Amino acid sequence: MLHNLSIRQLREQLDNKKVSAVELAQHFLDRATAHADLNAFIRRDPEVTLVQARAADEAMAHNQSGALTGIPIAHKDLFVTTDFATTAGSKILAQYISPFDATVVARLKNAGAVTLGKLNMDEFAMGSSNEHSHYGAVKNPWDTTRVSGGSSGGSACAVAAGLTVGATGTDTGGSIRQPASFTGITGIKPTYGRVSRYGMIAYASSLDQAGPMARTAEDCAILLNAMHGFDERDSTSMARDSEDFTRLLGQKFSNEASESQPLKGLRIGIPSEFYGAGLDAEVKQTTLAAIQQFEQLGATLVDVHLPKTELSIPTYYVIAPAEASSNLSRFDGVRYGYRAEQYTDLEDMYRKSRSEGFGWEVKKRIMIGTYVLSHGYYDAYYLQAQRLRRMIAQDYQDALAQCDVIMGPVAPTTAWRMGEKSDDPVQMYLEDVYTLSLNLAGLPGMSVPCGFSSTGLPIGLQIIGHYFDEARLLQIAHAYQNASDWHTRRPTVAQ
Ligand code: GLN
Repeated sequence: MLHNLSIRQLREQLDNKKVSAVELAQHFLDRATAHADLNAFIRRDPEVTLVQARAADEAMAHNQSGALTGIPIAHKDLFVTTDFATTAGSKILAQYISPFDATVVARLKNAGAVTLGKLNMDEFAMGSSNEHSHYGAVKNPWDTTRVSGGSSGGSACAVAAGLTVGATGTDTGGSIRQPASFTGITGIKPTYGRVSRYGMIAYASSLDQAGPMARTAEDCAILLNAMHGFDERDSTSMARDSEDFTRLLGQKFSNEASESQPLKGLRIGIPSEFYGAGLDAEVKQTTLAAIQQFEQLGATLVDVHLPKTELSIPTYYVIAPAEASSNLSRFDGVRYGYRAEQYTDLEDMYRKSRSEGFGWEVKKRIMIGTYVLSHGYYDAYYLQAQRLRRMIAQDYQDALAQCDVIMGPVAPTTAWRMGEKSDDPVQMYLEDVYTLSLNLAGLPGMSVPCGFSSTGLPIGLQIIGHYFDEARLLQIAHAYQNASDWHTRRPTVAQ
């Protein structure tokens, strides 16, 4: 089945002319149509996709194929595209067509990838369940009564259900890792500044980072190769040389390592704060069992501490809304997207356009953000949160001084039932407890499938690394995937 092959396997099929880019694109387009009820896509345009696929076939016929020529992917609808409208999951951008492609989109296009469409997401990437999309909730392909996680829920669902080979995602506080965990796929949030944010609609600019979502660490490495790199149009892009993220895959971790113990020399930090109250027993057990397997592969465990783990929730939920309230002020009914039909004057037009165009979660965060930035509260909330952010980042530096990576759960639970947490935002925010701190510190992190609950729901293992150590993270995840088969399990729809 074509939709069960990895990027490397599809590359071989394409290069050996076993399948054409057009056939491959058509296969995935048909699957997306057949499984439209999952609601993974906000927008598809088969004509646009097939034009790109024909161009890929043409390039291959002239021996001009790159790593991704003819490989079908899809973009989270937070990345602006010229070929498809971009909504950010919001009504306020319902018909918005960008005059340019986001850097990530342009780079994947240049590498030859074929775009299947735009993927569903929580409105402006605010959420942990993909229930806050103007275009409806995304279903989890493992159990369609459950959420796919968020905010990159469409990306996770589409990969897990075999509707695309890989997808782009964004992670401001966990939005690549948590949906990857909930759907049994692999995702990596790179170091802040590694991947350009140009053309990625801003939620919280100091936290937002784009990354790939796919079935395996190897596929993520191949996609990240095309996505990353300095971009002069993003002032926070890091001026570093490009890297080959596949270079360490299959390599021994150290000189002491062997065939049976490829990870000998790897020191894994285990923060007790990631295993305390609030963590579901099955998630804990499964995560610890995976870590034991890493020990069998040669790794040693080190106790580390991240004492401010719980404080990452209030810290994040002050800083992210503060930045969002500023970023979202541009949606005023004049410059982009939706404008109210009836209004009396300019003020009224702003008010009505924003009231009608934004959903509740977004409005709530704009209000929180405006409040914490306002005169009189700025010191008490925003400044205090910035101080805590600095301390949280320092905790990670102290912990990572004693180990190569930190491992723990991605989220305290498996995917919950649709609507289960909708009336209680605090419950939803608590789900982010193990993911937010990384974004506050700017560190890279992954989610790797490591087992299932007794009810058959996927569970991910989080691997956190040093700044710019993505190649290492991918190497470690790849070694685990060589020794386990969780990443090969498929929900019924993808079999
Ligand atoms: N759940 C978090 C939030 O709602 C993180 C979202 C994200 O990473 N985009 O802010």
